[in-house]
Amino acid sequence: AKYVYDFTEGNRNLKDLLGGKGANLAEMTNLGLPVPPGFTITSEACRHYLAEGSTPGGLEQEVAEHLDALENRMGRKLGQADDPLLVSVRSGAKFSMPGMMETVLNIGLNDESVHGLAKQAGGNERFAWDSYRRLIQMFGKTVLGIDGELFERALDAVKGRRHDTDLDAGELQRLVETYKGIVREQTGGDFPADPREQMRLAVTAVFDSWNAPRAVLYRRQERIPADLGTAVNIMAMVFGNYGDDSGTGVAFTRDPGSGLQGIYGDYLQNAQGEDVVAGIRNTIPLQELERLDKHSYDELLAIMETLENHYKDLCDIEFTIERGKLWMLQTRVGKRTAAAAFCIATQLVDQGLITLDEAVTRVTGDQLAQLMFPRFDADADRKTIAKGMNASPGAAVGRAVFCSERAIELSGQGEDVILVRRETNPDDLAGMIAARGILTSRGGKTSHAAVVARGMGKTCVCGAEDLEVSTEECRFTAPGGVVVSEGDLISIDGTTGEVFLGEVPVVDSEVVEYFEGAEPGSELVRAVDRIMRHADAGRRLGVRANVDTPQDAARARRFGAQGIGLCRTEHMFLGERRRLVEDLVLASTDDERQAALDALEPLQKADFAAIFQAMDGDPVTIRLIDPPLHEFLPDIVDLSVKVATSPDVTDKDRELLTAVKRLHEQNPMLGLRGVRLGLVIPGLFAMQVRAIAQAAKEVPGSRPEIMIPLVAAVQELESVREEAVEILAETGVDALIGTMIEVPRAALSAGRIAEAAQFFSFGTNDLTQMCWGFSRDDVEASFFSRYLDLGIFGTSPFETIDREGVGRLIEIAAKEGRATRPDLHLGICGEHGGDPGSVHFCHEVGLDYVSCSPFRIPVARLEAGRAAL
Ligand code: ADP
Ligand code: MG
Ligand code: MG
Repeated sequence: AKYVYDFTEGNRNLKDLLGGKGANLAEMTNLGLPVPPGFTITSEACRHYLAEGSTPGGLEQEVAEHLDALENRMGRKLGQADDPLLVSVRSGAKFSMPGMMETVLNIGLNDESVHGLAKQAGGNERFAWDSYRRLIQMFGKTVLGIDGELFERALDAVKGRRHDTDLDAGELQRLVETYKGIVREQTGGDFPADPREQMRLAVTAVFDSWNAPRAVLYRRQERIPADLGTAVNIMAMVFGNYGDDSGTGVAFTRDPGSGLQGIYGDYLQNAQGEDVVAGIRNTIPLQELERLDKHSYDELLAIMETLENHYKDLCDIEFTIERGKLWMLQTRVGKRTAAAAFCIATQLVDQGLITLDEAVTRVTGDQLAQLMFPRFDADADRKTIAKGMNASPGAAVGRAVFCSERAIELSGQGEDVILVRRETNPDDLAGMIAARGILTSRGGKTSHAAVVARGMGKTCVCGAEDLEVSTEECRFTAPGGVVVSEGDLISIDGTTGEVFLGEVPVVDSEVVEYFEGAEPGSELVRAVDRIMRHADAGRRLGVRANVDTPQDAARARRFGAQGIGLCRTEHMFLGERRRLVEDLVLASTDDERQAALDALEPLQKADFAAIFQAMDGDPVTIRLIDPPLHEFLPDIVDLSVKVATSPDVTDKDRELLTAVKRLHEQNPMLGLRGVRLGLVIPGLFAMQVRAIAQAAKEVPGSRPEIMIPLVAAVQELESVREEAVEILAETGVDALIGTMIEVPRAALSAGRIAEAAQFFSFGTNDLTQMCWGFSRDDVEASFFSRYLDLGIFGTSPFETIDREGVGRLIEIAAKEGRATRPDLHLGICGEHGGDPGSVHFCHEVGLDYVSCSPFRIPVARLEAGRAAL
C-alpha cells in the first residue's frame, strides 16, 4: 500500500485517506495557492498502528523518501545545524475535530540548529529562541505527556505582567534551559535532540491522540465513527513569530452566524499557531490587516474569493504572514449556524455557484427544527441553577407549578407556567398542554415527558437530577440551597438543558410565523421559503400528521400536512367520559354494555366530524382504540386504599376494584390491547367504526381510513374487517380498512395480512420495542447510555430507525405486502416519521408517506425532498 502522499498528489475527494486537513491542503496546493510544501501520512497507516501497536512495514522508508524530496525542494535539511529546515507535524481526521488531537510545531530545533535558525533569520536571535521554547513546550506536553501547566508556570515566572513578545533573546534562552530541566525531571531523560527522532515521535503521538479521552468524547457526541483514525500532515514551517511584520490569523469567507458576505476574522501580530485562538494577547479584527500590510491583505481577500468559488461554499481558513509573505495553512468548508446555512445556500444560488437542488442538500431538517423554536437571548443576564437533558428544544419562561390542576388554573388566568414534576404520566397531559414548558428531575429523552413534549413542540428539560422536587410541598431545591416555590419564575432551555432562575428574555422564531402563514419577510425566511418550495416540488414521499384534535389538524395543514397518518382515539375516552368507560367495563349484561357504547358513540362521532372538517377532504387515518382498558380506570393502589379505608366507599367502588383487578396485567404493553381488545369486548370496534361512518356521512368529501392496531395474524384482522365492511355498506360510506404493522409477526406474515388490508402503517415505536425486546418506558434510563458507550448503537433505535433489524422487518413487510396487493398504500406513523435519518430510509424502501407530529412536518418535508435528490 501507499502510505504517504505529497500535497501535489492529493485532492479534496481523498478525505477518507488523507483526512480533511490533508485533502484540502492538497487541493489548495493544486489550485496554485501559497501553501508550504509537505506530505500526508494516510489514516490507513494510523489504523494499522492503532490495531497492531506498530507502524506498517515500509512506512518509515516512504516517509524518509518524501522528507528527502522536501529537503531537496527547500534546499535545507531537517534540523541541519547551520541552516535548518523545520516542519510541523499535524493531526487531521476525515471529520474535523477542532483542537481535539495534537499538532507539534518547529520540529528540527536543538541546541545547534537554534543558532542556524537565528542566522537564517538574519541574526534574529529572539525569534530563534522563541521557536525553540515553543517546540519543547508543545513536544513536552503532547509527545512526552508532561503536564502543560509546568511549562506555563515557568513562562509566567519569567514574563511577570509583560506579554510573551516582550521577552528578549536572553530570557528566552534561559527559559529553554528551564524547560529542558522540566523534561529531565518529568521523564528522567533529555529532550530528544535528533530532528528525525523528534519527527518520528511526533507522528506516533498524533496517531495516539486519536484515542485521547477528549477525542473519544467528542466523537461520541458528534457521532463520528471510532475506527477512522487520523492522517498526519508534515509540512515546512513558516513563521508568524519573526516580528511585527509577521503574524497569524483565522478567517471565514462569510459570516458563519448570519451568512452575510464580508471580512470575518482575527489576526495577531508576531505570533505562531494557536496563539490566535488561545487568547494570550488581544487579536485585532482582520480588516485592520489592511492598514498593517496592504499587500498581504489584498492577496488574502483574493484567495478567499478563489476558495469560495472553488468550494462553492463558506470556507474557514488559517493563514500566516512571514515578513510580508502570505501563506495558507488550512481551509475547510466551515461550520455555521442553522440560520446561516439557509441564507448561504440561497445566496450561492443567486451567485450562480450552485443549483437549487444543491441548496436543498446544503441544509438539514435538524437545522430547520432549530429555527422553529423560540430562543433565549444569549446576551441577557442569567443565572443557571441546574442542567438536565435537552429533551425538546425551545425556550420557555413561566411560573413554577407542581401539579396539573394548578397548571390549568394559573394558565387559565393568563399566566405562563412551567410544569415541574419528578416525572410525568398520562394524567399530567392536560397540565402539560397548559404549560409553556415541562421540567422533570427524572427520566431520559424517551421518558413520557420528553416524548409528549416533542410531539407537542413544547419545550422540555428532563432528568435534571440535581433538583430535589417535592410535589407535596410545591417546591424544588437546586444545588447551593436555591429554593423555587410555586409561583416563582423560572426559565428552561430545551436546546441546552439549562434551567435558569427568573425570567430570561426570549426572541421569537420568525420561521414558525412563516409556516403559520405570515409572508416571508427577512432574508432568512425568504431562504427557508425558497428551499421548502423546492424540496416539496422534488419529493416523492407524502407527509402526513399525527394529530387527534381539530386544532392540531388545522395547524398541521398550515404546516403542509397532506392528511392525517395517525389519529389516536385514546384521549377521546378520558376526562368526563371516563365514567362511560367504567360503565362499559363494569357491564354484566349485553344490554348494559350496549347502553354504555351507545352513550359513547355520538361523542365519538362529533370528535371525528370535527377532524374531517378541519382536514377538508384530505385523508384521515383513524386508529381504533389501542391501549389496555385499565389505563382508563382508576389506579389499582389508590382504589384498593379507598375501598379498604374510606368510610364512604360505594358498591360501585367495590365493583370497580374487582374489574380493575381482573384487568390488571403484569405486562400491559404485551397484554389485552389493540385488536385483541376489539375481539374480546363485543361492539367496541363496531361502535367506533359506526361513529366514523356517520361522521363521514355528515361531512361530505371526507376520506376516512380505518386502522386496526396491534394485528399479528391475518385472522385477527379478518374478523374485525368483516364487521367493519358491513357497517360501512349499511351507511354507504367509502373508507379504506388497513392495519398497523407493529408486531414482528405481522411484518413477517405481511403477504397474508395484505389480503385483508388496503394499507399498512408502520407503528415503529412498538415495532422497535418488540423487535429488540426493549421496554421503551424503562430501558432508556437503565442501560441505553452504556449501550451507546459500547457502540452497540450510535443513536437510540427509538430515535432513528435501526436499519439492520427493524428496518429489515419494514422492508420485508413492504415487499411481501405489495406482492399480494400491488396498490397497497404504505406509510409510517411512529415517532420516527419526523426523524431525518428515518425519513431517508422510508424514501429508500418505497413507502408512500411519513406521518409525524405537526411541528416535525416541515422537517419531514425538507428531508423527503433531500432524500429524493
Ligand atoms: P488544529 O487541527 O487543532 O487546528 P493545526 O494542525 O491546524 O491544529 O495546527 C495548529 C496551529 O498551528 C494552526 O494555527 C496552524 O495554522 C499552525 N501551523 C500548523 N502547521 C504550521 C506550519 N507549517 N507553519 C506555521 N504554522 C503552522
Ligand atoms: Mg487548524
Ligand atoms: Mg403501537
